[in-house]
Amino acid sequence: MNANTLFVAAEAQPLAKTGGLADVVGGLARALLQRGADVTILIPGYPRAIAAARDVRSLGAIHLPMALPPGHSPARLLQGQMPDSGVRVVFLDCPSLYDRPGSLYVDATGRDFCDNAQRFAALAHAATAIAAGETPLPVPSLVHAHDWHAALTPLLMRTRGLRTPTVCTIHNLAFQGVFPMAVAGPLGLPPESLTPDGIEFWGKINFLKAGIRYADRITTVSHTYAREILTPHFGHGLDGLLVHRAAVLGAIPNGVDTDTWSPRTDRLLPQCYDARNLAGKRACKAALQQRHGLPVDADRPLIAMGSRLTHQKMADVALDAIALALATHTDAQFVILGCGDPRLEAAFCALAQRHPQRVGVAIGYREEDAHLLHAGADMLLHGSRFEPFGLTPVYAMRYGTVPIVSRVGGLADTVRDVGDGTAPAARANGIVFDGESVEAMCAAMTRGLGWYGRQRHWRSLQRTGMQTDFGWEGPARQYLAMYGSLAPALAHVPVVDVEAVAAAPTVQPARGGRRPVAVPDAPALSPSDAGAAATPA
Ligand code: ADP
Repeated sequence: MNANTLFVAAEAQPLAKTGGLADVVGGLARALLQRGADVTILIPGYPRAIAAARDVRSLGAIHLPMALPPGHSPARLLQGQMPDSGVRVVFLDCPSLYDRPGSLYVDATGRDFCDNAQRFAALAHAATAIAAGETPLPVPSLVHAHDWHAALTPLLMRTRGLRTPTVCTIHNLAFQGVFPMAVAGPLGLPPESLTPDGIEFWGKINFLKAGIRYADRITTVSHTYAREILTPHFGHGLDGLLVHRAAVLGAIPNGVDTDTWSPRTDRLLPQCYDARNLAGKRACKAALQQRHGLPVDADRPLIAMGSRLTHQKMADVALDAIALALATHTDAQFVILGCGDPRLEAAFCALAQRHPQRVGVAIGYREEDAHLLHAGADMLLHGSRFEPFGLTPVYAMRYGTVPIVSRVGGLADTVRDVGDGTAPAARANGIVFDGESVEAMCAAMTRGLGWYGRQRHWRSLQRTGMQTDFGWEGPARQYLAMYGSLAPALAHVPVVDVEAVAAAPTVQPARGGRRPVAVPDAPALSPSDAGAAATPA
């Protein structure tokens, strides 16, 4: 039997990205392939993504059992390969749904596309058709749905009576795909699922609730976040259901793509460097200062921010905290790369105009610029009100840039505070603060600036971060173990020596430091289990 796993997702790097979801889908699929697993990624047929894939060919038309607007394009599947990893990628090609200006989910003015329910229900119907063997693709042994865009899949598969195991990974519980109840019928959702015990959510339907309710396993991307989402504060209205399903909920911390994010080989940097010789980092800092019109000075501390400028990312707090830090630390420079809330974008631009010699702001989403930002800065400020994993501080650490983070979610797991002693605490790699206040964030920057002035200790913080293993090796093993426990066919996936995979980029061997997966064995689901969800409080 040809054992294989089908990923269903709205984003996959390097084809389509708005955030960390894409990095994880693309990076995990590559890591699984390198370990001998057969993985296919199903994503929407965004024209730019199709154009960037290799060897794309049509697999023919696909029937989607849902209503689409009159005159919609016929849907078909295309198969190709990821340009970097060679992972098989399948596109749901339907131009009337996916060929449009704007980003993946919003129009050019930043408003959600009004047919996002249709766009992503179509994706779940396509996944279900593949799982049902209605397409030329091999029938998957397991279907892995990522985030709300894919989360109807376990429900639709169950409705069709398919017994293929399903996994739903929550990359961010704040985004759930909530739509008016009136669209449920036209989307082809079973009427019996439209209750509080199914996917009803305050009179509407909730796509992510379908994944949490009906998947055989639910995972999220850090241990702390897995615990937090069981509480009302972090549960976004789904904590009741998550508590109900806690027996099948677990965490597998993300990895990062250590080839793409490596200061030793990064072609986007003016000069490369590594943990033994940080000389190249000075050139990167000079380039970053120059790009933002700041005085080029290796000794002045430079604090960067690179993220969505949103409430989640505490961008509102950072705005005031940076203004406070500008007044108290007269030598510090700041560079901000981000986009998001238009009011925050404007406020950061205004701050740069008031302090042109000390603050540089670039509004936009540019992957290339994120590399120089991480390499050229001394510190990365990354406050979050909640954070499933937090890739950006991990990228920063790989570049010897010390993260300043809030103690939530994955940030609490990956960043170890330096402490207040005479030397950094054991295995410290950053600065951690509590709460959401301007004062706490500013005090954390003050602590960072204090350590920055103590060169020997600063080097030790930098090197600890650079040498920590955040690669995909460990997480990929954990996913394979989970898949094997759910789908006997996948228990026999050959776990090959990564060194032996032809053309595979170098993968660091696991050096420990990660906790084993906390996904318990799933109890057998009885039919009645499908109807016992808790109602959100
Ligand atoms: P989230 O997925 O919540 O946005 P993460 O820190 O986990 O946060 O991942 C963010 C990803 O998006 C990283 O790859 C980061 O480099 C990238 N990113 C975020 N904002 C920008 C931006 N303005 N320009 C380029 N890349 C960005």
